[in-house]
Amino acid sequence: MNFSTPLSEVPRIGPVYEKRLKKLGIETVRDLLFYFPRTYENLSRITDIKEIKEGGDYCVAGNVLQIQERRTFRKRLSITEAVVQDKTGAAKVLWFNQPYLSQALAQGDKVCLAGRVVRGKEGIYISNPAYEKIRNSQFAIPNYELTHVGRIIPIYSETTGISSRWLRSLMKMVLAQLEELQETLPEKILKEKKFPLLKRALWQIHFPDSLELADGARKRFAFEELFFILLFIISERQKIASVKAPPIPFDAALMKRFTDSLPFGLTDAQKKSAWHILKDLEKPRPMNRLLEGDVGSGKTVVGAMAALSAAKHGLQTAWMAPTEILAQQHFKTVGQFLSRFNLTIALLTGKSDRFISPKLPNDFIEVSREKLIKMAVQGKIHVVIGTHALIQEKVRFGNLGLVIIDEQHRFGVRQRSELQKGKTALVPHLLSMTATPIPRTLAMTIYGDLDLSIVDQMPAGRKKIITKIIPPPQRIHAYEFLEKQMQTGKQVFVICPRIEPSETGEMKAVKEEYEKLSKEIFPEYEVAMLHGKMSTRTKEDVMKKFKRGKIDMLVSTSVVEVGVDIPNATVMMIEGADRFGLAQLHQFRGRVGRREIQSYCFLFTESASAQSRKRLKALERLESGFELAEMDLKLRGPGDFVGEKQWGIPDFAMEHIANVKLVEEAREAAKQILEQDIALKKYPLLRQRVQELREKLHLE
Ligand code: ADP
Ligand code: MG
Repeated sequence: MNFSTPLSEVPRIGPVYEKRLKKLGIETVRDLLFYFPRTYENLSRITDIKEIKEGGDYCVAGNVLQIQERRTFRKRLSITEAVVQDKTGAAKVLWFNQPYLSQALAQGDKVCLAGRVVRGKEGIYISNPAYEKIRNSQFAIPNYELTHVGRIIPIYSETTGISSRWLRSLMKMVLAQLEELQETLPEKILKEKKFPLLKRALWQIHFPDSLELADGARKRFAFEELFFILLFIISERQKIASVKAPPIPFDAALMKRFTDSLPFGLTDAQKKSAWHILKDLEKPRPMNRLLEGDVGSGKTVVGAMAALSAAKHGLQTAWMAPTEILAQQHFKTVGQFLSRFNLTIALLTGKSDRFISPKLPNDFIEVSREKLIKMAVQGKIHVVIGTHALIQEKVRFGNLGLVIIDEQHRFGVRQRSELQKGKTALVPHLLSMTATPIPRTLAMTIYGDLDLSIVDQMPAGRKKIITKIIPPPQRIHAYEFLEKQMQTGKQVFVICPRIEPSETGEMKAVKEEYEKLSKEIFPEYEVAMLHGKMSTRTKEDVMKKFKRGKIDMLVSTSVVEVGVDIPNATVMMIEGADRFGLAQLHQFRGRVGRREIQSYCFLFTESASAQSRKRLKALERLESGFELAEMDLKLRGPGDFVGEKQWGIPDFAMEHIANVKLVEEAREAAKQILEQDIALKKYPLLRQRVQELREKLHLE
């Protein structure tokens, strides 16, 4: 067995478990071994049986004197009763509803048990303890042959159908059968940091001999991930520093004319971000800036300022949006923003293409794709706004100076290089915009402040979205409220965690809710449904209808896009709110409240857990995505706010990114290795990891 062995070839994993593990992103032996324990339980202390007392948790070891199963409550309930004896005394043990135990354990077996001592009808006994047979002849504890008791045991995050106990047995078997591993960290670093070698570190993180050793192993893996990320980021930065971009001079008068032409004043945050960007553009090397800001914070106008600067300097801008609706929206708003500046702006999507010519600033002309592409090559269009069609159609720009990527959660470096293949040898500047908040503390540690601008302020006059957790008995009032809103022409979102009803029926499903809401509760209103299994075309049609006000209520899964501006939508109602991460909930909420009209976000939850309540409460209280992200980070690590899905950075490394000291150490090590320039050649594995990261960070 080695790292790349697929799970299907691992003994004990049948198709059912293979599927469950796949849900956790585990497909190979490597993935499995890098599924680290969430925490540990120290069961390495054995107590003499005569010392155990009611109410305490203990681990004991002894011989099974007797064991039998009996049935009570009309034979429906199974109780396994045993007596276990060590050299100091004997204890009664009861297991409820684990009938197989009387088969698994027999009189005379040596066992180790861990559980709570309680007093019940049956007197004093150890209740439902975790157990394991001791196979060798000794009772020596900690006993490293044991897996579930009598040692420090790993506790994994459990999902439906995978227990820690099962994972423990599997991990141990895989570790025992694993071939020798090639070391992934350079020897110099291992020595300097006194890190355990790879295989030992894997053993110690899953089955530690002491908590210190577990910690040491964890630190090694955290360091390793950070080291590779920084190696990648620093080398990427060095590469960029060596290529040239067309400098775009800062034209203060032009920018003043632009801001004067707006119907509103820019917020300080917008001014600051625009300043960063315009200053970057002046430099002869490509800008690589990420502009972050909550939904509605006004990033588009900042992008428009950059595009205007480029255009007035004779350079074209390619502006990419993730969907056709967003591209159309941008075409309209950017067209308005730039209407007085005599620019030609084009829209190129999968369908009808058109452009606004300077002579018709408030109207547009439909053109053929061929003509549009020809105009782009000739440099006759200043700003081309489009979807991925911009890349698919191999649009060539005569004079591309700036690429803007909106809401893609990625840096867009790859999109830039694909768009760039025009005549010019220069690399265009790149501005990525996103509403995904990455906490500032986090961003600073990895990226430094060099490439990041944050619009952390909302335009004045915007009302706070009233957010409320609705207890089940109040649901009826929430519906009455929705009805009043719809009566006055307002629109409503209803988000559900699933498409189809689940087997257990515990999660609200779109199809069911849609049926109920459209037929039973709001039959007089136009209710529509939206989910990921619908075709792109149908989805876009529904969104368009909603945008035009033809639909009153949209029942949807999480597919509702970020960034779409529905001025009349005032209520965001979220079913099963505890099923979503804080980040996602905040994104949902951002789809309402984009005007001065009061908007609302209602959260429904069936979960009573304190943790999920705490998180939803935070959502009630905090309105900024950045504050929420910081809080989430404190509450439970970076979690879903900055997980792998959004940033391409492994979750495990993210957990440690707030550890400034570790990040600094990793940065130093990465710099040293890059200076010596031997690492990438000498360590094929290291090169491979960097390549993987490169792909993850660049690709969708
Ligand atoms: P996002 O950051 O989510 O992309 P938009 O750029 O779509 O936000 O802006 C949301 C709305 O706010 C738009 O209608 C835009 O015209 C408006 N807006 C932007 N900046 C300001 C401002 N400083 N004052 C008032 N309204 C603004
Ligand atoms: Mg936007």
